[in-house]
Amino acid sequence: MDEERTVEDLPGVGPATAEKLQEAGFDDLMAIAVSSPSALAEAADIGEATAIKIIAAAKKMADVGGFVTGDVIMEQRRTVSKLTTSSKALDELLGGGVESCAITEFFGEFGSGKTQITHQLCVNACRGEEDGGLDAHTVFIDTENTFRPERIIQMSMAHDLDPTEVLQKIHVARAFNSHHQMLLVEKAKEIARNNPVKLMVVDSLTAHFRAEYIGRGALADRQQKLNKHLHAILNFADLNKAAVAVTNQVAAKPDAFFGDPTRAIGGHILGHTSTFRLYLRKSKGNRRIARLIDSPNLPEGEAVITVIEDGIRD
Ligand code: ADP
Ligand code: MG
Repeated sequence: MDEERTVEDLPGVGPATAEKLQEAGFDDLMAIAVSSPSALAEAADIGEATAIKIIAAAKKMADVGGFVTGDVIMEQRRTVSKLTTSSKALDELLGGGVESCAITEFFGEFGSGKTQITHQLCVNACRGEEDGGLDAHTVFIDTENTFRPERIIQMSMAHDLDPTEVLQKIHVARAFNSHHQMLLVEKAKEIARNNPVKLMVVDSLTAHFRAEYIGRGALADRQQKLNKHLHAILNFADLNKAAVAVTNQVAAKPDAFFGDPTRAIGGHILGHTSTFRLYLRKSKGNRRIARLIDSPNLPEGEAVITVIEDGIRD
C-alpha cells in the first residue's frame, strides 16, 4: 500500500470540516466510507450533496477489502476457537462456547449473572483446549469495580486449577469514565503484544456511556462513541484471534426512557456489532435463563444455568 491517506486528503474536506468530522468520531476513511450521507452531513455541518461526494471519495481511498469465496471463509472459520462457559447447556446454545474473533454480549438486569459469567470465562480461558479453554491470558476492563479475585479463586479451585496461576493470567484495569475505557482498549493491545491474550472482557460495556450521555440530545453522540469503541474492540479480537465478552445492564421493568427490557442500551448499533447476544433473566433461586438473540448462524433458544459457589453450571 502507498502512504497512508487521511480524512484531510478527501476532496472537499478542509481543516475545519476535518476537525468537525474527527470530533464526531469520523476519524478515518473507513468510518466515512461506511457512513450515511445524512449522518455525515449532520456531523460536519455540510450539505447532503457534499456528504455524498465525500463518502464516494472515501470509498475509493479506503481499503474496503475484496471478495473471497465461501470455501476460504469456511477454512478461516475452522480456526475459530470456542471457550467453554462451564455450563453444557449454555455452551450448546452458543454453538460450542464463546467464539473467538467475535463479540458476545451478555445483557440483563442487575444480578442476572453477567459478572459471574465473565469471571467464569477468565478462569476457563486459562485451561487447555482439551478442557474447552484457550490456554491463554485475559484482559479485563472493569468499569463498575466488580472484579473479585476471591471469586476467581473459588472458580479455579472448583476446576482443580492453581488459583495463583490463574490470577497471574488475568490483567485487570479499572475504567474511570468512558474515555478512559476507550483508551484501555489501546492499552490492552500492548499487553497482548507481550502476553498470549485470547480473551477480552468489558464489564460493563455501557455503564459509563449511559451515565455520561444523558437525555435525547446526547443520544447520537453516545451511539457514535460506543460504535467507535466497539470497532476498536472488534479490531482487538481480529488482531489477537481473541474472544470478547461484554456486559450490558438493562432495566427489569420497562421504563419511560429505556422502554422494552430486551432492548439493551446501545440500541441497534450494539445489536449489529455483537455477533452473539444473550439475554439473561433471573429465575427461581440461583437459576438464570439465557436466551440467544440474533445469531448469524444459530437458532434462537434458551438455556437454564445456575450460579453457585463453584461458578456457572447447568
Ligand atoms: P450482574 O448481572 O449484575 O453482573 P452478577 O453476575 O454480579 O450480576 O450476579 C450476582 C449473583 O451471583 C448474586 O445475586 C448471587 O446470586 C450470585 N453469586 C455471587 N457470588 C456468589 C457465590 N460466591 N456463590 C454463589 N452465588 C454467588
Ligand atoms: Mg455486574
